[in-house]
Amino acid sequence: MSELAYPYEAPASQALFDRAAAVTPGGVNSPVRAFRAVGGTPRFMVSGTGPYLTDADGREYVDLVCSWGPMILGHSHPEVIAAVQDAVSRGTSFGTPGEGEVALAEEMVARVAPLEQVRLVSSGTEATMSAIRLARGFTQRTKVIKFAGCYHGHVDSLLAAAGSGVATFALPDTPGVTGAQAGDTIVLPYNDLDAVREAFRAHPGEVACVITEASPGNMGVVPPAEGFNQGLKDICAENGALYVSDEVMTGFRTSRAGWFGVDGVVPDLMTFGKVMGGGFPAAAFGGRADVMAHLAPAGPVYQAGTLAGNPVATAAGLAQLRLLDDAAYAKVDAVSKEIQGLVTGALSKEGVAHRLQTASNMFSVFFTDRPVRNYEDAKTQESFRFTAFFHSLLGNGVYLPPSSFESWFVSTAHDERAVQKIADALPAAARAAAEATA
Ligand code: PLP
Repeated sequence: MSELAYPYEAPASQALFDRAAAVTPGGVNSPVRAFRAVGGTPRFMVSGTGPYLTDADGREYVDLVCSWGPMILGHSHPEVIAAVQDAVSRGTSFGTPGEGEVALAEEMVARVAPLEQVRLVSSGTEATMSAIRLARGFTQRTKVIKFAGCYHGHVDSLLAAAGSGVATFALPDTPGVTGAQAGDTIVLPYNDLDAVREAFRAHPGEVACVITEASPGNMGVVPPAEGFNQGLKDICAENGALYVSDEVMTGFRTSRAGWFGVDGVVPDLMTFGKVMGGGFPAAAFGGRADVMAHLAPAGPVYQAGTLAGNPVATAAGLAQLRLLDDAAYAKVDAVSKEIQGLVTGALSKEGVAHRLQTASNMFSVFFTDRPVRNYEDAKTQESFRFTAFFHSLLGNGVYLPPSSFESWFVSTAHDERAVQKIADALPAAARAAAEATA
């Protein structure tokens, strides 16, 4: 697309982006924010209220990214803000244990049955990195199985055929990760239990764990086929390996108990982030108490963090989780369904081939007429249609993830006015998708 193809200018965002590019690689602190997959000027946001974000040019958007998942109550929820203000008034970090982190861990353990113990960290990346180390330490084995298109943060050993930003940029791997770091990682096609069985046969007694997104959202939304997660769990159990379910994205979003609350498959270890931090850097890993007992200082596997269990972050996360009752999930699920219906309705009306895939209230659109079961399928979509669709919606005040390899997220705050704004913007976006050329 040429520059002229972006019909709406954003001069204040562009000026900030130019300033940013001088002091930060690519002008952003996380690659997908740079809009490289869709082109144009990334919007620099200055405030968020409920379902809306406002950018530096003063334009308002209905937010379908929700900070990539965390903002399940919408932006600036008064009770979350009050909890944060209360915590901040008592200090921002002590480097000691505190009651807030205990209360957050108790709330998580109470919601997610397989979670007997948790360790708090500051990002999803730290959570998966630590879970892998613990799985290796516990089993005394080296190899890790992951699936193509699943993203588990930028952990060296897991940056092989990852989704999310890595998928967006089609990087096969990344410079800086050595052969030794990735060499113990076995990458398999998603939703293929035969491939998993074969990998265990080829590496007897060597596999420490299988890590999988509980329901992948980082190659777009590609839910596990019926019986896939249970199959992983069973194969792991038969072979003395741990089943690690990455719920950083799905945790406390797809239900009260995350994806575990949907499919009931019991992992040995789980990872969390996003929703449990209420918009602050808080994440966690946890699971079986006998495995977690191997973690320092209880056991020999080292793991630590200066800001782990930070009092402000834990206050935000706890306030958010306490507000997430059954009624809240019913509301998120209902508004998600409503928006899904509007999107498919508009695209179908224009005759645009597409697949809208869902995992509870997470969803995304693939511009293809075939079901998407794995990363190879996801890559066959006509992403140029997404680009046109994205820019039309952006210009009409609807903010989608700036890549066709990402989940869309909604919140309890997405009300009638927000849904109407989406409904009003969709016909032109669907037309733009229909008319787009590669
Ligand atoms: N795991 C999954 C499933 C994720 O979606 C993400 C981030 O999107 C991560 C891990 C990494 O989390 P973070 O970005 O907080 O490091």
